[in-house]
Amino acid sequence: MNNVEKKLIEYLESEHKFEQMVLWNDEKLGLEISIIIDDTTLGPGLGGTRWRPYATRTEALVDNSRLARDMTFKLALAVGEDTELAKAGVSFGGGKTVIKGESTKDRDRRKKQLRAYADLINSIGGRFITSVDVGTSVEDAVTMREVTKWVVGLPQEMGGSGDPSPVTAMGVVWGLRACLEAVYETQSFKGKTIAIQGIAGKVGGSLARMLATEGAILIGSDINEAGAQKMAKEVDARLVSSDEIHKQQCDIFSANAFGGVLNDDTIPELRCRIVGGAANNQLWEPRKHAAMLQDRGILHAPEFWINGGGVINVAHEFHPRGYSQERAFADIKRIYDRGKEMIAISRKEKTPLFTAAMRLAEERIRRGKGGRAAGQKS
Ligand code: NAD
Repeated sequence: MNNVEKKLIEYLESEHKFEQMVLWNDEKLGLEISIIIDDTTLGPGLGGTRWRPYATRTEALVDNSRLARDMTFKLALAVGEDTELAKAGVSFGGGKTVIKGESTKDRDRRKKQLRAYADLINSIGGRFITSVDVGTSVEDAVTMREVTKWVVGLPQEMGGSGDPSPVTAMGVVWGLRACLEAVYETQSFKGKTIAIQGIAGKVGGSLARMLATEGAILIGSDINEAGAQKMAKEVDARLVSSDEIHKQQCDIFSANAFGGVLNDDTIPELRCRIVGGAANNQLWEPRKHAAMLQDRGILHAPEFWINGGGVINVAHEFHPRGYSQERAFADIKRIYDRGKEMIAISRKEKTPLFTAAMRLAEERIRRGKGGRAAGQKS
């Protein structure tokens, strides 16, 4: 049995059981879809649709399971009882879709595929709401909206919240402020050195711009060399190679490219006081590697807390009074408040921030049990 197969078994046999898995194959349309609704205690499962040419079905399912579970914890933290959304009676559980396959360049075929997928979402009857992720776009969400109301991440001209990436970056900045306060007793990025992995990406680029405006000194890397050069010029960043970025002497290492970046090999090589970025599933083995970072005296911001800005923004499309940037941004700022709360717990109990974040999320879900699960809008 290989590692991916082992991960799938671990998931299927784990104590935390998922609620529903939908597997759907349509050979004619070339679609292999899995939807996992992880937990709907707090409301319908919300999560993006990832479309990638996974090598195997097992690999696709493993990715789906990890991402769906992350959404449960992310939304429990992001839509805490103090948020504008929760106060309006709206909260969400976690879910995620993974579509295995190459995406087609044939626009008509793509539309047919998306409409069929939207029909499948309708058949779940509002227990799952999706948005865009790697391999899907706002244009795809617009196509799906013709068929289902259970899709968010629509353009602003349609009353939606627009591109989530800059808002995700904004949330990362709020989270990093809480980390800076804990480590350096300042909220200011001025003169702080920040190494950004994935600087040419949608989130990494927005983050670089925001941090440059705040007076940070930037180091960047990206496998998209032309994009990295362009961004480096814009924000005055020094570029290093992709396998060197995490080794840079800096205040913050910010991973904004891919998962599994914090592992047995990379953690001993880090030369920073804080790790915090938007990339999902950064810890290769979450509990073990969170503890390793703690032992090295590095404050690691769990991504399911710090990268919640984008999902908070799209979730606001379900506010009973419609999307409002003012309300959404007020909730994104709460990433900072939640961080302060988590840091206080982790200091008091001498546990990694990861453990404190999991605990806060689990307590929120526990309080929701027996309470009213909300999230639907007519
Ligand atoms: P993106 O594809 O726009 O950016 C990723 C960047 O990383 C690209 O520029 C890519 O060239 C670069 N990259 C890939 N491999 C690399 C490597 N080995 N070294 C250095 N750079 C490398 O994606 P994004 O939307 O900016 O998302 C970045 C990460 O944040 C992903 O893990 C995503 O799941 C997560 N995330 C994104 C959002 C969002 O709103 N976009 C929200 C939550 C989490």
